[in-house]
Amino acid sequence: MRVGIIGGGAAGLAAAYDLTKAGHYAQVFEQAPFLGGQASTFQVGGGRLERGYHHLFVSDTDITDLMVEIGLGEEMAWLESKVGLFRGGKVWDFGTPMDLLRFSPLSMLDRLRVGAFTFWLQKQSNWRKYERLTARDWLIRWMGKSAYQVIWEPVLRGKFGEYFDRISMTWIWGKFRLRVSSRGKGSRKELLGYPMCSFGEVFDVLGQRVVSQGGDVHISSAVKRVVVDEATATGLEVSLPGREAEILPFDAVIATTPSYVFTRLIPPFPEGETATDYVKKLERVDYLSAVLMILVLDRPFTDKYWMTIADADMPFVALIEHTNMIDKELYGGNHILYISNYPKRDSTLYRMTPEELLEEFLPHLQKINPDFQRSWVLEYHHHKVDGAQPIVGINYGEQIPSHRTPFKNLYLANTTQIYPEDRGTNYSVRMGRQVAKMVMDDLA
Ligand SMILES: Cc1cc2nc3c(=O)[nH]c(=O)nc-3n(C[C@H](O)[C@H](O)[C@H](O)COP(=O)(O)OP(=O)(O)OC[C@H]3O[C@@H](n4cnc5c(N)ncnc54)[C@H](O)[C@@H]3O)c2cc1C
Repeated sequence: MRVGIIGGGAAGLAAAYDLTKAGHYAQVFEQAPFLGGQASTFQVGGGRLERGYHHLFVSDTDITDLMVEIGLGEEMAWLESKVGLFRGGKVWDFGTPMDLLRFSPLSMLDRLRVGAFTFWLQKQSNWRKYERLTARDWLIRWMGKSAYQVIWEPVLRGKFGEYFDRISMTWIWGKFRLRVSSRGKGSRKELLGYPMCSFGEVFDVLGQRVVSQGGDVHISSAVKRVVVDEATATGLEVSLPGREAEILPFDAVIATTPSYVFTRLIPPFPEGETATDYVKKLERVDYLSAVLMILVLDRPFTDKYWMTIADADMPFVALIEHTNMIDKELYGGNHILYISNYPKRDSTLYRMTPEELLEEFLPHLQKINPDFQRSWVLEYHHHKVDGAQPIVGINYGEQIPSHRTPFKNLYLANTTQIYPEDRGTNYSVRMGRQVAKMVMDDLA
């Protein structure tokens, strides 16, 4: 069986790995000049750094098991991380129950309430009961209005911008469960994982495995359209580097692109209720982009790995100081600070040039660390990731398109189909492998 795969990120490569391992032929087409998609890397100070900050949780066993399988198990490091929250001109420690008890922007009663309901929520396994509720309504009801305004609204705005009050409570439930699963055994501290070779290297090695198992992986190779004959996917029109666009035949096609890209690559589905419903599901999902400014500094900015910015006047929503968790020597002794935001594509922030964005962000850094000087910045890098965060509204589970599409032998495996968990490399690996199995069951 020959399978064409659109996208060389976690999902596409994991699918190709399993297909070729089972003796099938898989060909991966990635339009970017590198593999890894949203988890890809670039060079900083002689090391490979993710375009967007990345770490794993202890429960992310799909990706860590795959790393073991491809010989990279030794690369995983599990490290303690320091978490902070910036509010009212002050950086608060925000990683442990004791930190919450010391968090004086809330009354003691509110702090106890937040602690009690956080603990309770972490014990809940039935996420379905939260599907019909917005996070806003649930959090205000149980943790109180002050706690919502001071802690949770900034978190929701940070991830979902103007959609903040439409997000399902299931999303918050997922985050709470993840955090508790990432506490080391017998430890109150959270452990986060990082492949010391970088996420980019993990996906490069996975690509090499696909090739050594008989498949092909092409970078700088955009798929122009899915070829469909009698409502069945039969091939892909692709532009391989230095060649005219050509049509390659396949028995099945797996697309891992965002839904709005997928709809542009396919002809209209045959008329009928199922197809209309499928298209509605594809079109209903909204995405936010990620806008990242990466500062390479000659010294640390704070002592925190992750800092949520709970101050609406700031033009960014989180700071991730990568080298407060990962050894700076990997990047030539430099310190790495990600400044992150999730705007819409039509926002001013999204459209800013790297220089404009730097000018926008730098003055605000001094509010967090008053000693900060522009001279600390040795280099800066700007990256944008489109389709970075699907919006998870209420009753989201009912709106997810299936992996099998209305065209026979055409499969979709993208981040909108990850639920109730939030999107992440672990779940894309899991989904890629599940869809590869589906294709083999259907066709082999
Ligand atoms: C800022 C940021 C931080 C994140 N942090 C974490 C984290 O800490 N931990 C974690 O696990 N996950 C994190 N994630 C999420 C994680 O990176 C993604 O969920 C995961 O990498 C998605 O993999 P994917 O293969 O499903 O999709 P993608 O990585 O989006 O892959 C799809 C690929 O398809 C390609 N493509 C699109 N159109 C075409 C075409 N026409 N022809 C050929 N190729 C095409 C794209 O270039 C892309 O490479 C983060 C994401 C972002 C943006």
